[in-house]
Amino acid sequence: MMKVKPEITLKGIPASSGIAIGPAYIYHETTYEPELQIIPQESIELEIKQFRKAISACRRDLKRVYRESDKKYGKDFADILQVQISILEDKIFLNEVELMISENNYNAAYGTFKVFKNKKEHFQHLSDEYLRERALDIQNLKRLILKKLLGKKTGFNFKRPSLVVADNVSPADIIKLHHKNTLGFCTNVGGKNSHTAIVARSLGVPAVVGTEFITNMVKKGDMLILDGGEGIIIINPSPHTIDSYSKKRKEFIVLENSLLKTAGKPAQTLDGKIIQIMGNIEFTEELEQLKKSGAEGIGLYRTEGLFLSGSSFPSEDIQTEHYLKIAEAVNPEDVLIRTLDVGGDKLLPDLVGLPEKNPFLGWRAIRFCLDHKEIFIPQLKAILRANIHGNMKLLLPMISSIEEIIQFKQVIKEAQEVLESEGKKFNPDIEVGMMVEIPSAAIRIDDFLEEVDFFSIGTNDLVQYTMAVDRANEKISHLYNHFHPAHLHLVKLVIDASKRKNKLVSMCGEMAGDPIAIPLLIGMGLENLSVAHYAIPEIKDVIRHINLDSCKKLYTRVQKCRTASKSQYLCETFYSSIFTVPHELSNHRGEVYKKA
Ligand code: PEP
Ligand code: MG
Repeated sequence: MMKVKPEITLKGIPASSGIAIGPAYIYHETTYEPELQIIPQESIELEIKQFRKAISACRRDLKRVYRESDKKYGKDFADILQVQISILEDKIFLNEVELMISENNYNAAYGTFKVFKNKKEHFQHLSDEYLRERALDIQNLKRLILKKLLGKKTGFNFKRPSLVVADNVSPADIIKLHHKNTLGFCTNVGGKNSHTAIVARSLGVPAVVGTEFITNMVKKGDMLILDGGEGIIIINPSPHTIDSYSKKRKEFIVLENSLLKTAGKPAQTLDGKIIQIMGNIEFTEELEQLKKSGAEGIGLYRTEGLFLSGSSFPSEDIQTEHYLKIAEAVNPEDVLIRTLDVGGDKLLPDLVGLPEKNPFLGWRAIRFCLDHKEIFIPQLKAILRANIHGNMKLLLPMISSIEEIIQFKQVIKEAQEVLESEGKKFNPDIEVGMMVEIPSAAIRIDDFLEEVDFFSIGTNDLVQYTMAVDRANEKISHLYNHFHPAHLHLVKLVIDASKRKNKLVSMCGEMAGDPIAIPLLIGMGLENLSVAHYAIPEIKDVIRHINLDSCKKLYTRVQKCRTASKSQYLCETFYSSIFTVPHELSNHRGEVYKKA
């Protein structure tokens, strides 16, 4: 008799709501540390052929980038690529890999890995600075070649609809793994506001992160139920459990659809205050849903998606086309387009090189862009060119000091000069705002009032930097709480300062999409929120059931709280005096029932 596998329930962190039921697909991140395989004698010729093919493909790619960059950014940048091309033309070097294949019977990927790793280490220890820097070129080349050699074998395309199970999935991997057969994601690591979780929510794929052990417990093909709202994974569910979750899934969809019916109407409180609800977007595929959800413009367009989804940076023309498409889709409403925010948990493209020790405190966003004008200027040019309808505003990420704004102004001037000299049509009038997501900016917000046209509060990072809690680390996720008094204090500073000077202030972090937090935020004086499209109908619905005056009173009480749990409790109590919530509060947006 066949043994029935026991049903096991695993608790993780709810990352993206929705219920998915299906078999597991185990995804191994491409680490580019291939395993050694001893290949049979008769396969050597083929293995060498594949290695040579990969080298030619890399050379071709680099030469194309070289030609483009030489034309656009001049010799200095192109020279870097020339060094890498020369390495790929060095027969003696490449022969070392071929010898590993022909004499040691190593597979091509492992031979490449070994030779390039040894070479990199050798260069790293040389006293000559110029040669030492070549270690980075070798590291980049290693990755490029391995990508060509291993790319096809990573097998993103599973044939039957499945749930992706992984230790970690980067935002870039999610983009690659996202297709019609992907029912959901569950990972060992990650936090609710990690970029991976945000991307999963944007794409509307249910996800649970931070389960710690999922990859140890699940094998390919095991049946799973994933409840993204509750943060639960059920392994080998019984027929009875499958039945009850299928029912829940249907109810969830019915509730979402019923909220969508009123999504087009404005968000007005019972006493007449109108709150503008804009949408957060990262991918053009979200546009349709964004419209259906009743977004009043785009309050945060994360441009990272465009940069992370391809194998090389998008050209200025491609960016212009893309940005224009987004601006046209919401015209005459506004689009707040954020310049590239790579780094942190948003993977750095291969071009950037070695991983950092403290990526969240490192070479991220505006810091990276100001150091990489060859990437920044084309993006700014594309934005200026795409702003033909005049409905785009520019949003700068991770601003921590005034100098960054001053430097930025120089760079945008340069971008405009280049456009003029190239005779390209563009709109020079664009408002510039900044994300307030670093405590130094919030504390000294008055200093920034003179420098920018508007603010957008990024609570995802503001919480992480205020509390010193990595937003992507599941082990400390209990400390990550946007209701913390210190965080609320900073948010209030920004709102009050902006209002004093009549400047637009919005909130685009995930706090703005938390129904429990809405009455508090409105009580604090926010009149503009930008949230992921899926949350818009519910957020609008919450606003239609509250009263500005009682929201202000709620804030007065919360202001006196000394702990995150107390302020959260007050907000939850306020919320449940208006709505009944059968399940865990903010985690289950689909299951909010209005009180009779
Ligand atoms: C934020 O930090 O709140 C934010 C909106 O930016 P991101 O999540 O993209 O870092
Ligand atoms: Mg941020």
